Amino acid sequence: SKKAVIIGAGIAGIAAAIRLALKGYAVEVFEANATPGGKLSEVEQNGFRFDAGPSLLTMPQYINELFELAGKEPSKYFEYQKLDVICKYFYEDKTELTAYADRAKFTDEVSARTNEPTISLEKQAANSRVIYELTNPVFLEKPFRFKALLTKAGFKALVSLRKLGTGDTMHEANKSLFKDKRMIQFYDRYATYNGSNPYAAPATLNVIPHLEQHYGAYFPTGGMYSVTASLVKLATELGVGFKYNMPVDKILLEGDKVTSITVKGVEIPADIVISNMDIWFTYKKLLKDKPELHPQKILQQERSSSALVFYWGMNKKFDRLDLHNIFFSADYKAEFDHIWQQKTIYHDPTVYINITSKLNEKDAPPGCENWFVMINVPANTGQDWDTLVDEARKNILAKLSGQLNENVGELIVTESILDPRGIESKTSSYQGSIYGTSSNSKYAAFMRHANQSAKIKNLYFCGGSVHPGGGIPLCLLSAKIVSELVG
Ligand code: FAD
Repeated sequence: SKKAVIIGAGIAGIAAAIRLALKGYAVEVFEANATPGGKLSEVEQNGFRFDAGPSLLTMPQYINELFELAGKEPSKYFEYQKLDVICKYFYEDKTELTAYADRAKFTDEVSARTNEPTISLEKQAANSRVIYELTNPVFLEKPFRFKALLTKAGFKALVSLRKLGTGDTMHEANKSLFKDKRMIQFYDRYATYNGSNPYAAPATLNVIPHLEQHYGAYFPTGGMYSVTASLVKLATELGVGFKYNMPVDKILLEGDKVTSITVKGVEIPADIVISNMDIWFTYKKLLKDKPELHPQKILQQERSSSALVFYWGMNKKFDRLDLHNIFFSADYKAEFDHIWQQKTIYHDPTVYINITSKLNEKDAPPGCENWFVMINVPANTGQDWDTLVDEARKNILAKLSGQLNENVGELIVTESILDPRGIESKTSSYQGSIYGTSSNSKYAAFMRHANQSAKIKNLYFCGGSVHPGGGIPLCLLSAKIVSELVG
């Protein structure tokens, strides 16, 4: 059988391995780290377990699809539940708002806590759905080709460009829809789901709430890491070979065709090569002697934002908190200006806390909670991170202590920290960006690297830095597109 080599055991690399094994390929995955998952890995720390990166699961059907494709019963491998409460929001003016999954309950909550007329929520939901229905068939589920715009679905999307909102920014669209500034902030936040800036990203990104509010938010039993673990299990059963601690150092070509890779200097031949490594490093490291083949424009694009994460073991349980919690900044515009213009951290950042021990008790010792505390920060362009992290830690503790009426810092019994440098070095993501390139321009969707090289035969790409984009669902779709392209 034909041999496929996959570079990287991130979630897209694992999904691509499953799909290719099912097509009859002999598949080997080379992973630089000692464990699979890339950003979707886990951290064990003095009796506490943390999911290292992603915490919000949407569109779990894309995971189930892989088990079904292999003729397996998904629930035997991967269990999850739908959340009744998607997220709890805390505003600096002391408003507390619970985002219920149930539409009627959410509408009642918004009416009770804010001055927003319910009609705005209805308009928002309808608008978000329209964008989804127009963009999904053209942009997400298919390899992006300009030709795709000439299909019926593409034509529909094109003539509806106004509805897609490519002229306005997300924030402008939300500002014209909502009266209460708390709801504008609520919906602007969805830009951060792919590492973008609501004050720059096109209103097309107002599609994101549809994924969460219409299709739902989910929690995998056993935590997010079970997504990685269950798919690795399936892949292994299908005969995929995972090689850990095996960083690929080169992609070798004969003419314009890939023939092999090298790992620690040893050549490994392959009929096709799929890179799940960040597109920037794939070219700059693995194909560095072939600058003429680099897609210069794509490699020069602005990167998505990064994250600063504190993994805190807390010696107390907080009844006011849920699985997902947001503590908003008082001035969202200033916060994003700091991230995107000044490339630094605002003194009052929006703080996200994820506590998996709320649903998975084993993740923390009795009486304790595992806090994954994250803020959005700029990509790594050489800032003085040691100083920025120290300052941010103080500001976050002061903010949370004020909101929760507790000295939060005194309750931390164990701590580790992940900053953009760590994300960059642990997963080879250029500048520590979480979602590849940013979507801050209206052409962003057209500017992501394709899933197949235009210049190099038998070379394919999957993962968050290429089409259709970052985040678990899109990464899984990139693997699906690759498996269709290889034929
Ligand atoms: P990556 O996870 O980037 O993994 C790439 C793999 O390739 C790594 O294991 C790396 O070691 C390996 N590799 C790189 N170079 C080489 C080489 N030369 N040789 C061998 N192996 C190599 N998404 C969501 O859907 N919901 C969320 O809530 C969410 N929150 C996030 C929070 C944080 C803090 C982070 C960091 C990410 C978050 N994301 C979220 C994004 C999500 O994690 C990513 O989009 C997704 O996991 C990326 O998967 P990937 O397949 O692109 O591979």
